[in-house]
Amino acid sequence: MSEQAPGSVVFIGAGPGAADLITVRGLRLLRQAEVIIHDALQGDELAPEFPASALLVPVGKRCGHHSATQAEIHAHLLEHARAGRRVVRLKGGDPGVFGRLGEEIAHLEANAIPWSVVPGVTAAVASAAAAGFPLTHRGVTLAVTFLTGHCAEGRQADLRPFVATGATLCLYMGAKHLVATAAGLLAAGQSPATPVALVSRATQPGESIRVVELHELASGQVDTAALPTPLMTVVGEVVRQPGWRERLP
Ligand code: SAH
Repeated sequence: MSEQAPGSVVFIGAGPGAADLITVRGLRLLRQAEVIIHDALQGDELAPEFPASALLVPVGKRCGHHSATQAEIHAHLLEHARAGRRVVRLKGGDPGVFGRLGEEIAHLEANAIPWSVVPGVTAAVASAAAAGFPLTHRGVTLAVTFLTGHCAEGRQADLRPFVATGATLCLYMGAKHLVATAAGLLAAGQSPATPVALVSRATQPGESIRVVELHELASGQVDTAALPTPLMTVVGEVVRQPGWRERLP
């Protein structure tokens, strides 16, 4: 791949946290960046890789409060690209999975700024790898769904269409609403005995994995407030299968 052109933006997936889970391409472009606009989640682990000369623009978002609005992020992207700099927009996991990539691309397109995307290891696959189960398994599930556990304006999404597919469900965000989401899955027809993996801080210091059954989660028996974040919730029979279930807690 050619080097990044001046005056362009490259979106780079930083991966789930461990500094060596960024791609080789992502790391190469990161090391050439003149401006790095980065999220809070993964910026710290990769910080030693940032060129000393690069201008750092932290725009990290954390649950509950935003340190930069989306409009401010758009303004940073435009300002530095227009000044002819090589801009890296570093995002946790994969930029295209719950990362507001589409909005940032639309903004660059509207302003005729060239851009490209380097994919990253998204939290769902990193969590499954950390726990040691597959996301699909022949004869068990044919599909995997990445779903937000965040309820828009406090309203629970209709989960029936997702449950009906029998797909492994990977819930991003919404750790605070986990009990309600589990109850919603039961109401939508998911079997109460379905195993649920609660994977905290996958590939990061303090990684932890807990496996419960869906009905335990829905009935409030699990102290969800005590689960460290970021938290990935994987719902599906793939979590426990003969041969690998012994490895899980
Ligand atoms: N673009 C990111 C997701 C951003 S949404 C990606 O592709 O991974 C943020 C959510 O991702 C968190 O609320 C959490 O559910 C999940 N997440 C991110 N990093 C994680 C990690 N290391 N371990 C577990 N979950 C993680």
